[in-house]
Amino acid sequence: MISQNSINFIIQKINLMRFFLFILSSFSLSFGFSQSDSTQIKAFYNSALTDGKAYEDLRSLCKDIGARLSGSAEAAMAIEWGKEKLEGYNFDKVYLQEIMVPHWERGTKEVGWIKTSEGKLQKTHLLALGGSIGTNGLLEGEVVMFNNLDELKQAKKKDVEGKIVFLNKHMDEQQINTFKAYGGCYMIRGFGAIESSKLGAKAVINRSLGLPIDEHPHTGSMYYIDSVAKIPAAALSTRDCDVLASAVKKGKSTFVMEMDCRDYPDVLSYNVIAEITGSENPNNIITFGGHLDSWDTGEGAHDDGAGIVHTMEALRIIKATGYKPKNTLRLVFFMNEENGNKGGKSYASWAKEQKNENHIAALESDRGGFAPRGFHVDGPDKYVDLLKSFEKHLTQYDLHVFEKGYGGVDIGPLKKEFDGIPLFGFVPDSQRYFDFHHAPSDVFENVNKRELELGCAAIASMLYLIDQNL
Ligand SMILES: [Zn+2]
Repeated sequence: MISQNSINFIIQKINLMRFFLFILSSFSLSFGFSQSDSTQIKAFYNSALTDGKAYEDLRSLCKDIGARLSGSAEAAMAIEWGKEKLEGYNFDKVYLQEIMVPHWERGTKEVGWIKTSEGKLQKTHLLALGGSIGTNGLLEGEVVMFNNLDELKQAKKKDVEGKIVFLNKHMDEQQINTFKAYGGCYMIRGFGAIESSKLGAKAVINRSLGLPIDEHPHTGSMYYIDSVAKIPAAALSTRDCDVLASAVKKGKSTFVMEMDCRDYPDVLSYNVIAEITGSENPNNIITFGGHLDSWDTGEGAHDDGAGIVHTMEALRIIKATGYKPKNTLRLVFFMNEENGNKGGKSYASWAKEQKNENHIAALESDRGGFAPRGFHVDGPDKYVDLLKSFEKHLTQYDLHVFEKGYGGVDIGPLKKEFDGIPLFGFVPDSQRYFDFHHAPSDVFENVNKRELELGCAAIASMLYLIDQNL
């Protein structure tokens, strides 16, 4: 038997608990938490981690197609692949946007040897830089080494003329953010050919932009200008660079190389686009995506297959969890980020000038498929404050970077067309990105399934928070 006193005691306890729950929920609301936000974000994570499609989608992009440089047959296959995938996920709209892209091919011959002062020959691991001319047969020259581009610019013509310039600038290991170390070195690859040619060099080789000492050369884009003669440009693996540097220090060393890369006429290509139409403001557009093209070495797994499947999966789980966005969520697989950004530029001008659209935000994933750390925003200060206000929803998912920074190359041109638009950049851990970037080692096997899936959920959550709060 329960006595009346016991019943009264239990009722009192229940009322006390209700009171505490009321206080707790008021407290949460006053700090911007709402039950629906946390429930929705948890649903995104559960879906990505238990029923995720991103990893198998990435396997298919990497293994069924592989490297997909603009203008190649593989890039055309990737466009078909993307369209079919997006149609398979039954989004509201799937369509292509026509663009013209450059077409450069590496060719089949690509070799380089170091010839030391003692006459010893050593084969190296070399990749032509994207856009380079070929060597037109074997090319041989004495090596003149510089530690950075400024040293080269200050050199005398007589010391460089007729030689092969070797730019041996190392990425700075002391930078914790490896993108900053990359930014500090990028000039040797981008502008090495122009500066070397100004002084009469016959070719230029640069130290690969990668932190590890290994045998993988890292390619990437480089530039010529009309007023300066074009010379062949290639990247050497960091290990070969250390060998070449010590050979040059010992005495006169030569480098022998052959490449038959060349340019072809521009090619018709496409951005691949999918949308979920906004339920309240369908004319307000939030663009997000990654780039579908990759360099022609490796499989473009981290750069930027990861960004493609991150963003496709984000849209898939938004739909699968039943979230109806207020604004239109538009996913774009951009073409030609690597050597021209024609996809990003054409998209922004098409949206503004041809379609006269209203774009309220954009987000890009193009820093690899590593464990997510947070997001950057490039835009007016009010958006930095907004991004920081999202942190409370996401710290429990190990995200802690919410700061002003960089959006992405593909979404960058939107800034010019839509004044004040916030551009959000997904920030994963950067420590291993430059082990693989633009190198033969950028393959599916170097992407971790769980890290990739966490990135998908983080991006879906950020899109949700942007959609709810803009
Ligand atoms: Zn990229």
